[in-house]
Formats: sequence, structure tokens, C-alpha cells
Amino acid sequence: MTTLKAVLALMDFSDSHPRLIKYLARPIANAPVLSARLPVMVRAYMGATSFDIHDVDVENGRYGIGGVDEIMFGSELLRVLHLVLARMGPAEQERALYDIGFLTGYYEAKDAVRKGRWAPRVLVPLITSAGLLERVRSDPTMAEFLNKVLATESRIIINEGGWGSVEEFDFSSTPLRAVLANSQEAAWMGPSDSPVCHYFAGGAAGHASAITGEFFEGREVECAAAGARRCVFEMTPAVESEAELERREMAAALLALR
Ligand SMILES: [Zn+2]
Repeated sequence: MTTLKAVLALMDFSDSHPRLIKYLARPIANAPVLSARLPVMVRAYMGATSFDIHDVDVENGRYGIGGVDEIMFGSELLRVLHLVLARMGPAEQERALYDIGFLTGYYEAKDAVRKGRWAPRVLVPLITSAGLLERVRSDPTMAEFLNKVLATESRIIINEGGWGSVEEFDFSSTPLRAVLANSQEAAWMGPSDSPVCHYFAGGAAGHASAITGEFFEGREVECAAAGARRCVFEMTPAVESEAELERREMAAALLALR
């Protein structure tokens, strides 16, 4: 608990001194040699951007962040996936997009934790041990810490990844909530009579499931493509349906690959 309070004090200090972060902490976070030793989340908290933190291996054609391999796509991929999967019919298309989002979101978060380069070793158990949500709901310090971690992680992965602008990622609320402004998926798929961000809904649920260690299913309750100001996602404990069990099996198989 003392470690947590100290870390939170540091986070509060840096949040209230943006100029210090920009002109002093960010250059330190990106300094040669030192930057390679600092965990991804620490560098991000010191003001480093997603592009500062990514590793580019030109020779071998690999690109990634903190040991998690990535491939860059044009944002049109979202529309292409929607269009191609529409051949399956609307219900199957929605499920397929959701599953793609879930599996990739789940894998990325799990892979980041196991690669050991994302968070300081001493803090990993705080976030990944069982009963995270219970602790977040009963301890305001823990809730504040997790919300700050999620806000920083969202910035480097979602905002700086081109998905839209995260206004909220709240694991202390019931249901869990994510709010996304300027959703790229909504921009490609709108206007529409009903929510369209199926990929993002799956991604948010996959991420929440990986971090909390409990399986959640996500639902978009408001969507910018359907006229809302921003897209709102709610995540509730997953019902063990056939689709859910199949998703879990696929997630486990994916993680076993590498
Ligand atoms: Zn949406």
C-alpha cells in the first residue's frame, strides 16, 4: 500500500506540472540507453508519445511496443472488414467484428503483461493479481491509480493509435464503462440507425477481460454514427454462451502460439 501511495503521489505531481513533464521528463524518458531500461508505462507517464516508445527493426521488418509486435494498417481496414464480413449477414458480421476486436484486445494486453517491459516489476502484481475489481471498488486509492494507468495506456494505444479519443475508461463503475470521442470506426461506418463500433466494443471488452482476469462482454449503448455526441461502451460479466466459450478457446490458443 505504501508503494501505491508513493506512486500515486508521483502521478499527481506530474499531472499538475505539465510543463515540467514536457520539457524535462520527456527528454529523460527518451534519452539513449536509459530509455531502453524504462518500462513503457513509465516512459508514457513521463510524457513520451507512442511513437517515441515504439521499436522499429528495419532489418528484420518488425515493429512493436514493449515487446508486443504490431502491424500498421490504414484506417480504411475498418470499413473493409465491415464490408467483407457483411457477406455473412448482419448478426454474424457483428459477431465476427466483435470477436476480432475482443481477441486482438485480449491478446495485446496479456502479451504486454507477460513480456515484462510495460510496468515496473513491483507494480505488476497490483494490476494483475486476482480480485482487482473488488479492490478497485473498495479502495479509492486503488481506483484512482488504475484509472490513471488506464488513461495513460489509452492515450498511447488508442488516441495515438488513431482509434479516436478516449474520454473515460472506468473499471470502478458497474457496469465497466468506456467512452470514445471521434471514433474512427463510427467515422468510416456512419451515418447509421444503430451503433456500428462492433470492433471497438470487442476490443474494449477483451482489454477489460485481460486486465481484470474476469471475462466481460461489451455493448455499445450510444454511437456517434447514430447521432450521439460520442460512443459509449458498457461491459458486464460475460454469460457463458456458446459464442463466449468459443471466444475464450480462441483467445487461449492465440496466446499459446507466441
Ligand atoms: Zn460508435
